[in-house]
Amino acid sequence: MGTILMGACQGGGSGEEKDFRYSVEKFADLEILRYRVPEFEELSLQQKKLVYYLSQAAIEGRDILFDQHGRHNLAIRRTLEAIYESYAGDTAAAEYKSLVVYLKRVWFSSGIHHHYATDKFAPDFSQEYFTEVVKSLDPSLLPLQGGQTADELLATIVPVIFDPAVDAKRVNQADGHDLIGTSANNFYSGVTQKEAEAFYEKLKKPNDPTPVSYGLNSRLAKKDGKIVEEVWKAGGLYAQAIEKIVYWLEKAASVAENDGQRQVIETLIRFYQNGNLRDFDEYSILWAADTSRVDFINGFIETYGDPLGFKGTWEAMVNFKNLEATKRTETISGNAQWFEDNSPVDKRFKKETVTGVSAKVITAAILGGDCYPATPIGINLPNANWIRAQHGSKSVTIENITDAYDKAAQGNGFAQEFYWSQNEVDLMKRYGFITGNIHTDLHECLGHASGKLMPNVGQGALKAYGGTIEEARADLFALYYIADPQMVALGLLPNDTAYKAEYAKFMTNGLLTQLVRIAPDNNIEEPHMRNRQLIAKWTLEKGAADAVVELKKRDGKTYVVINDYGKLRTLFGQLLAEIQRIRSEGDYPAAKAIVEAYGVKVDADLHSEVLARYQKLNIAPYKGFVNPVYEPVTNSAGEITDIKITYTEGYAEQMLRYSKENSWVN
Ligand code: ZN
Repeated sequence: MGTILMGACQGGGSGEEKDFRYSVEKFADLEILRYRVPEFEELSLQQKKLVYYLSQAAIEGRDILFDQHGRHNLAIRRTLEAIYESYAGDTAAAEYKSLVVYLKRVWFSSGIHHHYATDKFAPDFSQEYFTEVVKSLDPSLLPLQGGQTADELLATIVPVIFDPAVDAKRVNQADGHDLIGTSANNFYSGVTQKEAEAFYEKLKKPNDPTPVSYGLNSRLAKKDGKIVEEVWKAGGLYAQAIEKIVYWLEKAASVAENDGQRQVIETLIRFYQNGNLRDFDEYSILWAADTSRVDFINGFIETYGDPLGFKGTWEAMVNFKNLEATKRTETISGNAQWFEDNSPVDKRFKKETVTGVSAKVITAAILGGDCYPATPIGINLPNANWIRAQHGSKSVTIENITDAYDKAAQGNGFAQEFYWSQNEVDLMKRYGFITGNIHTDLHECLGHASGKLMPNVGQGALKAYGGTIEEARADLFALYYIADPQMVALGLLPNDTAYKAEYAKFMTNGLLTQLVRIAPDNNIEEPHMRNRQLIAKWTLEKGAADAVVELKKRDGKTYVVINDYGKLRTLFGQLLAEIQRIRSEGDYPAAKAIVEAYGVKVDADLHSEVLARYQKLNIAPYKGFVNPVYEPVTNSAGEITDIKITYTEGYAEQMLRYSKENSWVN
C-alpha cells in the first residue's frame, strides 16, 4: 500500500523527441523534469473541465505540506522568495547564487529538510550574509507575523536554517530515541512519544473490526496540560486552504462523470468540512469502487512523514486512465487468484479469495502536495487494512511519469558504468522499460494485496520495521512472478529472457547503486531502500555456496553478476515465504533481526566507491517535475469552451506563481 518511488537506477531510455525537452534544470542533487499528458486532447469537454477543477484543488493545499513538514518552513520560504524577487544588491555574487539554490531546494522539499533523506540541508551561504540581505529589504515584503520586526523574524529563523543541531531531522526512525522529540515535523506540539502513543492506544476500541485511522488528520498538542487533537478541517487548522480546496471540489462535483463519482467528491467535501474520520473511511470505500476515466487523490493520505505512523501528509494528484496500457494491468488483476494460489507462501498465510484488486495505468495530469515536485510512480490506496480486505483497493502505475524518467535518462552513461557487460546493458535497453512497469504493476496490484494476517495480529505489530517488511513483501511478490512462464503465456512479457533485465536492475540497485542516495557514513533508513538492500543482500548470502549472485571486481570497480537466474528466482520465493510469515504472525523479533542484519548497514568502502563512480557521471540522483499549465478558454458568455494545456512554465516561475496564487496558510 502507499506509494512506490523511482529507484536510483537510471539505465534505459529510448530516445528524446525533438519537440519536447524533458529536462528543465539541475541543482544540488536534483533534476527537474517535465512530463507530457498524452491524450488530454482526446478527453471530452466535461472531462477536461473536471481535470481542470480537480487540478486547482490539487494546488490549493500546497502550503499545508510546508507547515506539516516544520513550523518555520513557510516563514523561511517566504523570506527567501522576498529576497529572490526584490533584492537590489549583487545577484551575481557566489553567496547570492547559493541562496537561490537553497530556495530551490526548499521549494523541492516543501521545507528545509531533504525530501528523501529527511535530514536538514546546510546552506552554502553565511548567516551574516543572509542577515544583511534580509535587512536590506523593505520590511513590508517580509512574512512578519502579528507586529513582528525583521530582527525578531531573523531571531526565529536563523538558528533553524544555520544551526545543525536545531531541527536536524524531519523524521527520525532511529531505535531508542523519543521519535517525536527528535523529529522536526509539525505533527506534535509539546507531547512526548509515550504520551502520543498512550493517547491513541486509549482511543482504540478492543476488537474493533472497522477502526478509523486514528490521528490521521490532526496535530496532537498539549494545551494547559491537556492533550488535544487540533483537527485539519474547515473551521479548524488549515481552514483557509481547506475551504479553497472545497470550493474547487464543489465545482468538480458539478461536472463529475457519473453519480458514483459525484458521491465520491461530495463525501470528501463532507470530510474536509467536519474532519470526521468515519467520513474519510466512507469516502475511501466509494473511491476504491469508482472506475471513472478521470480520477484523483486529494487529502491526508500517507503516514511516512510521522515516525509513529499516525499523521497523514497532504497530497494530491489528478489523473485519467491510459486505456491501452490498462489492458496490461487488467490481465494481471484478472489473474490475481491464480497468483495468490501459486505463490511459495505457506497456505495458512494466503487469502482464500483475493477480492477487488483493481489496477490501472494512469496518466498524471497534475501533481500536488506530497506528490510534487517529487512524485511516486505507483500508488495503492486506501491504506486502511480493513477497507482493503472488505472493499478492495485501487492500484495505479503512472506511466507518463515513468516514461519521462526513462526519456530523461537516455544516454547518461549509467548502464555502461554499473553493469558488468554489454549483455546487461542490452537487456536494459531492450526490456528495462517494460519490465520496470510490470514490476510496479505486480508490486502494487498483487504484492500489497496478497496474504493475510493471523487473527489477533494488529496492523502495527512490526512497529518501526513494518514499512520495510511490507515493501519487501510486495517487491518479492513482483520479483518471484516476473520470471514466471505465466507472464509470457498471458502476453505480458515478450519472451522468457525479458525478466532478466529486472533481476539485473534490482540486484545492482539493491547492492550498489541505491547507495548514491546515502550520504557518506550514514546507514539506510528509508523503508523502500532498506527493503531493496535486504532482498539483495539476503539472496547474495544465501546463494553464495552456489555462486548464484557474485560481487566481482574489475579495474578496482565492483559489479553485480548474476550467474544463475533460475536459482535466484527460487531464493526470492524462499524469502517471500519467510517475509510473509513474519508479517502474518506479527513476528517483531524476526522482523527486527532480518532488517537490521541485511537492510540497514552500509559497507563504507563499497559506498565510497559507488559515490565516486556516480559523481563522475554527473547525474542527479533525485528528480522532480514541473506541472503543465491548464487554462480555460471561454466564450463571450463566459462559458468554458475548452481547456488549453501548455508545457512552457519554468521551475522557479511555477513555484513563485503557486506561492502567490495558491498560498493559504499563515
Ligand atoms: Zn509498496
